[in-house]
Amino acid sequence: LDIRLSEDEWPILRSQRWLLFSEASNIMKFLVTGGAGFIGSNLVTKLLSDPNNEVICIDNMYCGLDSNVAPHLDNPRFKFIKHDITEPLKEEIKVDRIYHLAAPASPPFYQRNAIHTAKTMFLGTLHMLELATKTGARFLLTSTSEVYGDPEVHPQKESYWGNVNCNGIRSCYDEGKRIAETLTFDFHRQHKTDVRIVRIFNTYGPGMREDDGRVVPNFIRQALEGKPLTVYGEGNQTRSFCFVQDTLAGIMSLMEQTETLGPVNVGNPIENTMLELAETILKVTGGKSSLNFQPLPSDDPRKRKPDITLAKQYLNWEPKVLLEDGLKVTVEYFKKRLNL
Ligand code: NAD
Ligand code: UDP
Repeated sequence: LDIRLSEDEWPILRSQRWLLFSEASNIMKFLVTGGAGFIGSNLVTKLLSDPNNEVICIDNMYCGLDSNVAPHLDNPRFKFIKHDITEPLKEEIKVDRIYHLAAPASPPFYQRNAIHTAKTMFLGTLHMLELATKTGARFLLTSTSEVYGDPEVHPQKESYWGNVNCNGIRSCYDEGKRIAETLTFDFHRQHKTDVRIVRIFNTYGPGMREDDGRVVPNFIRQALEGKPLTVYGEGNQTRSFCFVQDTLAGIMSLMEQTETLGPVNVGNPIENTMLELAETILKVTGGKSSLNFQPLPSDDPRKRKPDITLAKQYLNWEPKVLLEDGLKVTVEYFKKRLNL
């Protein structure tokens, strides 16, 4: 949060500047909300690698990184708008696709201002659905495995309705994504808005903040700095970690499906305990850190693993990158960021 460009340094765009975008018919125009964040910035980079694509990124820089956006600022096919999506858009935007990712995804960040998180989930999603409906854009919501809460069904299939506390410290995020899913399908039913919903499971990779607070950046930073790894609880809780490029392949494939499907899980079905993750990260970094056991935060899900039958069947998708290989790339990224 201390490394942001000032308001003046960002290219805040005025509506006439949108005319600079090409009107050629083979050009695809994308809006990526949350494009300065971890997954959003990887998506923007991937979209811009196709010369027929133009990308508008909207982000309020609450937890996005300047360094995730800076490489694209000189690209004429890229526009950045610093804007909080809880407020209506000030510019006229016409795009073909809306990837709606804006939402703080790390528990410390989404809990820091829980009321604003809830507003982002509801009002932010509402504003983006209104834009999609008005302009005829296809809309994709990045939902989450958190809609399953602390699951009593394992692994989690899309048909499972979940086990979610509606008034705990994680609820602004979990319930926020649940109402975002509700709104998305209500727009589809009421206005025929062309929608897609992906339920992403724990994803990691380059583009994350070192102070993000999620387990992968925490463990890697601690291992690289020779500090004890903070394991919450006994470390027996499980997560299933997917490398960001695999997750993106699934999300982008879902976006380009010709028909609206129900929500689709995208995640890695290989499940690890946090103790196993700590061990793998120490192996990859060559670190010798001890483990520092800390209290388990409330409502922390005990286990999580996606059933990806639907993604395999409809998207012909499954993850390819092994945890150790993805972690190697991520460790190199953090070494650069930490000047190690
Ligand atoms: P992130 O926290 O790294 O990035 C989120 C981005 O959204 C940040 O740049 C932030 O500044 C921006 N943002 C937040 N509130 C905003 C607002 N009101 N207006 C404008 N911008 C706002 O998150 P991420 O890991 O890249 O996740 C991206 C999306 O994918 C999120 O919607 C998240 O819920 C979902 N998701 C991620 C994971 C994961 O493991 N990374 C898992 C499930 C779902
Ligand atoms: N966790 C941990 N040490 C940390 C950060 C997180 O043991 O330094 C645990 C956390 O309690 C949870 C798991 O790792 O059980 C994944 O946490 P993260 O915040 O990455 O994602 P989420 O809980 O949202 O899946």
